[in-house]
Amino acid sequence: MNPALYLDANATEPLRPAARAAALAAMDLGGNPSSVHAAGRAARRLLEEAREALAARFGARPQDVVFTSGGTEANALALRGLAAGRRLLVGATEHPAVRAAAPDAGLLPVLADGTLDLAALAAALAAGPPALVALMAANNETGVLHPLEAAAALCRQHGALLHVDAVQAAGRVRVTLLGDSLAVSGHKLGGPPGAGALLLRPGLDLAPLIAGGGQERGRRGGTEALPAIAGMAAALAEATPAAAARLAVLRDAIEAGAAGARVAGAGAPRLPNTTCLVLPGVAAETQVIALDLAGMRVSAGAACSSGKVGRSPVLDAMGLGEAAGCGIRVSLPWNAPEDTAERFLAAWAAMRDRLSRRAA
Ligand code: PLP
Repeated sequence: MNPALYLDANATEPLRPAARAAALAAMDLGGNPSSVHAAGRAARRLLEEAREALAARFGARPQDVVFTSGGTEANALALRGLAAGRRLLVGATEHPAVRAAAPDAGLLPVLADGTLDLAALAAALAAGPPALVALMAANNETGVLHPLEAAAALCRQHGALLHVDAVQAAGRVRVTLLGDSLAVSGHKLGGPPGAGALLLRPGLDLAPLIAGGGQERGRRGGTEALPAIAGMAAALAEATPAAAARLAVLRDAIEAGAAGARVAGAGAPRLPNTTCLVLPGVAAETQVIALDLAGMRVSAGAACSSGKVGRSPVLDAMGLGEAAGCGIRVSLPWNAPEDTAERFLAAWAAMRDRLSRRAA
């Protein structure tokens, strides 16, 4: 039997060898970037190189890059740290990391293809005092890309701040800091878990979530996780939209071959590596377990920490109704083999035939 296929890159990308090497080198280097002696200065140099790499890639200034523990913290830092005196508006399909950081936020609806309803955003912005708006660049379950340039223009027009959660988009499609802040995560790029960053527009005031020893210009206390940060920078160098474009060919072959499935967000611009296959009448969890037994590591929407799968709020927001509990996410990793589509489709078709018969 063929070895298993890991098709859950949106949960975490496989570690890239260059990222592993950079993380190990940073671990061996030792030293605290805040120490004034030579060992500290060497660690500081590595930290600042990573900062410059992120800044250059996403169009920020190095001094406006704040390292965090990951995407969840970067989102929370933006939503809590930029919210002073503003009402919060967040997209209806945002990741739990954003929803939980803004529990009382107004929800911005999406269209049936999963993209932001721009007319609803314009109406919400016009209806009250200045807002802080949080939108994802790409959805983690469907890969759907929001129309961010148009959303950013509307936010500017109404004096609103825009925070963009680029955790899934970074490294896969072109991403720049076109709003006021941008969140990225190292392990979604092929770096080790434990590092992320919030990039800020120049001159923006950010209240820290964690006070401490003045690290990150007083915006995030705590000794920086240099091995994870160096690994993130090394991963970023390889995680380019040009390299990810190859995955769209494999993804399209999967969609073309998955007869009987509906693709959530099919008509919208999407990430090259992601498809959400909906098989009405068959619970997502059942599909995931059957595929796992066949060696296919996929997921059902956003797995929560208990490992339980329910109806996907993302598919619900897109109006899928009962079928919102029947979608699986196939997210191709950077190192997906060229025969991914054939192997996946063989397992998927067997699963479809068996489970659809049982559901009928
Ligand atoms: N935002 C999105 C869109 C995500 O998909 C995730 C993780 O799945 C996060 C934020 C959280 O990132 P992290 O796992 O680095 O905390």
